[in-house]
Amino acid sequence: MICVAMRPEILFPLFAPATSLKGVGPKLAPLVERLAGPLVRDVLFLGPNRVVHRGLTTVAEALEGEDQTFLVTVDAHLPPGRAGLPYRIRVFDGTGFITLTWFKGGGPHLARQHPQGAQHAVSGRVERYMGGLQMAHPDYLVDADRLSDIPEFEAIYPASGDLHARVVRRLAQEALERAPELPEWQDAAWLAREKLPGWRAAIEAFHSPRSDDDLSPHTPHRRRLAYDELFAHQLALAQRKAGRKAEPAAVIVASQLSEKAERALPFRLTGAQIRSLSEVRGDLAFGQRMSRLLQGDVGAGKTVVAMLAMADVAAAGLQSALMAPTEILARQHFDTLAGPLSAQGIQTVLLTGRDRGAARMEKLMALASGDAAVAVGTHALFQDDVTFKALALTVIDEQHRFGVSERQRLSDKGPAAHLLAMSATPIPRTLELTVYGALEVSRLDEKPPGRKPVATRAAPTTRLEEVTARLTRAVAGGAQAFWICPLVSDSEDSALAAAEARAIVLKRLLGPKVGLVHGRLPPTEKDTVMADFAAGTLSVLVATTVVEVGVDVPAASIMVIEQAERFGLAQLHQLRGRVGRGKADSSCVLLYDAPLSAVAQARLDILRRTDDGFVIAEKDLELRGGGDPLGLKQSGFPAYRLADPVAHRDLIAVAADDARLVLARDPELKSERGKAIQVLQALFDWRPDGSASAAG
Ligand code: ADP
Ligand code: MG
Repeated sequence: MICVAMRPEILFPLFAPATSLKGVGPKLAPLVERLAGPLVRDVLFLGPNRVVHRGLTTVAEALEGEDQTFLVTVDAHLPPGRAGLPYRIRVFDGTGFITLTWFKGGGPHLARQHPQGAQHAVSGRVERYMGGLQMAHPDYLVDADRLSDIPEFEAIYPASGDLHARVVRRLAQEALERAPELPEWQDAAWLAREKLPGWRAAIEAFHSPRSDDDLSPHTPHRRRLAYDELFAHQLALAQRKAGRKAEPAAVIVASQLSEKAERALPFRLTGAQIRSLSEVRGDLAFGQRMSRLLQGDVGAGKTVVAMLAMADVAAAGLQSALMAPTEILARQHFDTLAGPLSAQGIQTVLLTGRDRGAARMEKLMALASGDAAVAVGTHALFQDDVTFKALALTVIDEQHRFGVSERQRLSDKGPAAHLLAMSATPIPRTLELTVYGALEVSRLDEKPPGRKPVATRAAPTTRLEEVTARLTRAVAGGAQAFWICPLVSDSEDSALAAAEARAIVLKRLLGPKVGLVHGRLPPTEKDTVMADFAAGTLSVLVATTVVEVGVDVPAASIMVIEQAERFGLAQLHQLRGRVGRGKADSSCVLLYDAPLSAVAQARLDILRRTDDGFVIAEKDLELRGGGDPLGLKQSGFPAYRLADPVAHRDLIAVAADDARLVLARDPELKSERGKAIQVLQALFDWRPDGSASAAG
């Protein structure tokens, strides 16, 4: 672990609370915090997303639809003839007239503020209305001698509710004024070569765009700021990696026990499994803590790799724990592992929230005494009364689904335990460093033999009947199907309603062989439904995506996904991976609400063309080009403020190399540049786990 250094004094102004900005009182404070964050720094890092050019012009030369500024004289007030009509003021500038219009907020006060004959500067969008020029709700209407109050280029900031864009802009300007010159932490030669500005100049340009081009992530100032952020993050990850490595851990070598377990498997390991296992073994035998990610598509066979490593650990007289995010998954892992391990005399226990009383006590005893060398379970594994005699390896499945503190609590059970994380979220190679920079990565990029491709097609929802008719025939012929309902508008309630409605419709068609699982179901019921589906008692399983579909039901051969266009490709890919595991030909139907946008169409096409998760992830990234391309934020992806991991992806590897180099030369960051880098680190404040701290 890194110790958090004292914050350098030079940053104090930026780490003052946002409430220290003028006008941020009790009413605005929570809005500012929600929009930007609690600190002046957070406001500083909030950039405009649009620019309005308010060119000064004359009425005769006014352009319709453009934001423009005019110097005018108030000609006449035209109050509404009756309620409900707008309030209007006619103004002129010697070349023509414009009518300023208020649909609301008009009234006699306007006559007082803008008396007839007054010289004013007015700015806003000009439109043609009933043959004349009109400006509805001017953005600015001030005395002519205050023309300079109207910015020629106005940066438009995000706003929310009562926190208006213009207020945000003012706060951002004030934050900018408080931003000090900071010591240069980047390599000067590199900056010069890349033609990137210094930090202060960059943040200033960030807030002073003069055109939409200036807002492009590819501008030098945005690249500079992005690089700083990526570099600070990579540095935190590299330090964390180095910190873990420096911790001694049990030396565990490849064992005969494990070899025997491998030979007893009903299949041979794939080349990728063999390679990954030997990478894991290399780490385990090294004497330093392993931090490795086993990354592989759904069905690639990660569990077996973990199992053989666990057998090595058991052979060394030590213990392993495998933690899964849900009870269903934990049980499934247990079912996979317990047999082969016990055949080698390795006792495995399953520990979930459901274990109570004497049975639970017995399991706890087995772990505390060391009789059980392997524990599989859910969060229940890190309850306070769970103790291990000698925990040497923790395996975390779908690691992004656990919070940092949960992972921490498990690792506290074995302070020097090796870590093997597993993930099926296909992260494009280009982004791997940002997501897993603190981990070594082993990839299972080869599927076990015999897997048949899943015939995938997309169909509009209007063809739902056809789809259900086919499903009915297939089910009559003994097939099993998943039917996935999407998480509509992020509300589990409505997703639930949709899934329930769908289940009712399908039950009407197919009878009692339709089951429903969703996140609100108590775990025992969920398991019962899943078990019934796995056993073939149920033919169709309707599920919301809140439900872990990481379950293995090889007999299921049909996957129907409703409103597929709403899903991330990675997620669709993972869902599809649920079928095509057995002997039968499988199919996947992507139902969508027509019409599809060109991009949505292209995205679904990718799925039809390939079933390589990495290719899919990479293509999806290209197509979406920005934002949160793969729903990465839910996958433990860092929330960057200034960097766009897609637009700036070329900078990621550079930042990672740079971070490694810096730490190799100056691990304590004591050199001149090292000290400046400490300022950078404090500025971004990445926590050791790679998340950014909001409050600092
Ligand atoms: P993952 O966790 O990567 O999605 P699993 O480890 O659950 O995949 O494996 C999926 C299925 O493939 C399991 O039924 C497993 O027994 C089987 N399997 C794993 N490795 C192989 C292999 N090399 N050959 C054939 N089947 C395999
Ligand atoms: Mg798995």
